[in-house]
Amino acid sequence: MLSKKKYLEALEIIEEMFPQAHGELNWETPFQLLIATILSAQATDKGVNKATPALFAAYPDAETMAEASVEDIEQKIRTIGLYKTKAKNILKTAQMLTTQFKDELPDLPKDKKVLQTLPGVGRKTANVVLAEAYGIPGLAVDTHVERVSKRLDVVPQKASVLEVEEKLMKLIPKEKWIQAHHHLIFFGRYHCTAKKPNCETCPVLEYCKFGKNYLKND
Ligand code: SF4
Repeated sequence: MLSKKKYLEALEIIEEMFPQAHGELNWETPFQLLIATILSAQATDKGVNKATPALFAAYPDAETMAEASVEDIEQKIRTIGLYKTKAKNILKTAQMLTTQFKDELPDLPKDKKVLQTLPGVGRKTANVVLAEAYGIPGLAVDTHVERVSKRLDVVPQKASVLEVEEKLMKLIPKEKWIQAHHHLIFFGRYHCTAKKPNCETCPVLEYCKFGKNYLKND
């Protein structure tokens, strides 16, 4: 397993590769970020960004979305995978925000556990929303973060998403969690890709057992 020291060195190199790394969902308010993040589960940010302008033009906030019909929401997000379930979830989320959490609006509840009571909101979504909208440190583990962590051998190959999150929180200083999450996502999305990682030109190859084996077997 890669040592903490070596992992942080590799992370610094990854940071230098993508200094501009940032969240790629488009949103203007914490509510819109929450909805866009729910929609992004098992979908690309690009695909979500294509659908949300019409959705947010019609329903810019929780109050207006709470009054929408599920059919109209479905229509507006039908290009996104799992749109029927997601339409139900975002409608219910908007309704819960306008009833149970109406005193907080237009802000969202800033507690991870409370956010996770909203339909369609898991740990990853709650982490993303709290970090992006309110700067509350968190390390959301998506498919890219999980893959890169396993390839760099900082967690066991069978580690769950929660175990990856807990390990990264131990390894990375808290003040770097939000940025590290973006750097790791960009690195996974644009360099250490799932199907064809760019090991040959990878600046962290010397830290990566997976990459060395990959090149040997290529
Ligand atoms: Fe990913 Fe390959 Fe780089 Fe390892 S060497 S981090 S597998 S691109």
